[in-house]
Amino acid sequence: MSYYDVLSKYQNFDWGKAFSGVAGEDVKRAIYREDAADRLIQLLSPAAEGLLEEMAQRAHEITLRSFGRTIQLYTPTYLSNYCDNQCVYCGFNSNNNITRRRLSIEEVEKEARAIASTGLRHILVLTGESRTMSPVNYIRNSVKILKKYFSSIAIEIYPLTEDEYRELVSEGADALTIYQEVYDEVIYRNMHPAGPKRDYRFRLDAPERGCRAGIRSVNIGVLLGLNDWRREIFLTGLHAKYLQDNFPDVEIGAAIPRVRPQAGNFKAPHEVSDKNIVHMILALRIFLPRIGITLSTRENSEFRENLIPLGITRMSAGSSTKVGGHTRRAEGTEACGQFEICDHRNVEEVKAAVGRRGYQPVMKDWITL
Ligand code: SF4
Repeated sequence: MSYYDVLSKYQNFDWGKAFSGVAGEDVKRAIYREDAADRLIQLLSPAAEGLLEEMAQRAHEITLRSFGRTIQLYTPTYLSNYCDNQCVYCGFNSNNNITRRRLSIEEVEKEARAIASTGLRHILVLTGESRTMSPVNYIRNSVKILKKYFSSIAIEIYPLTEDEYRELVSEGADALTIYQEVYDEVIYRNMHPAGPKRDYRFRLDAPERGCRAGIRSVNIGVLLGLNDWRREIFLTGLHAKYLQDNFPDVEIGAAIPRVRPQAGNFKAPHEVSDKNIVHMILALRIFLPRIGITLSTRENSEFRENLIPLGITRMSAGSSTKVGGHTRRAEGTEACGQFEICDHRNVEEVKAAVGRRGYQPVMKDWITL
């Protein structure tokens, strides 16, 4: 059994009919009744747009009950931008003529020291997808160094086999972030014209392999703008639920990243407005009360702050999408980033903003023994 079996049931699904067939009363019921099977369709429907205030109230209550007034902070660190793929939406696309770099292990430690000096203890490690330039062994050695400075190390790298995940878990990686980008298989093929990432199924099953390998926390998501957001968020919600049901010991989270400007100048074919982002956060929170929801610096500072009470539980801070961006920025020798970020505030500024909203910024809520 795999989430692919669940997805297959939606291959010829009439999305238009399902979403447009929802009435206001159905949405009202879905906001409060946890047993309705097609609840997420109702919560994401156009009819729900007239009930966003009520959904916001409910989502706020549920978030307080499950997480209190806390926002966990982390920052991404890019170890390498070598990539064998040609994802049309990404600045690291192997066709792009950009400066490529990979940090040496000494540079990884320098980056770790710089980030740790901000007080952060949760880190997200990223590389482009190149098994040649950033092999598992290199990532394992990097995790070993990072472990000296951070209590939680999440990896956002190419999909691994179960044994490879196990290898990184044994070294100290405790969380896995892997986005399917788009669940629609035809669009997936168009967005990934070449490279190992074309293997849809190997990527789709990666969160399950990670769970089986003993990872503590898994974060999934789609890249908003590649397809109709309602369908993609519906399938994200179902995927998260599938993981929660099948791996109850693993903390499951979802992120809601939108396409941002990048070196390839790709423009998202589907518009996703701020209101749509609010809508999907509320729907996900009501549908899955315990799910973590991550909001990155792809969004601007004001919008990020306004979303805090609605269901967000994790935010990045002091971000850079450039290789060694936390140390090389100071030296003025940064390589090209994966995409442009929108919120450029440092960790102290984000902490202060979270506090002003009446929430506690959490720098550390986990330690691997
Ligand atoms: S999204 Fe990931 S796999 Fe695709 S080009 Fe960018 S770094 Fe490579």
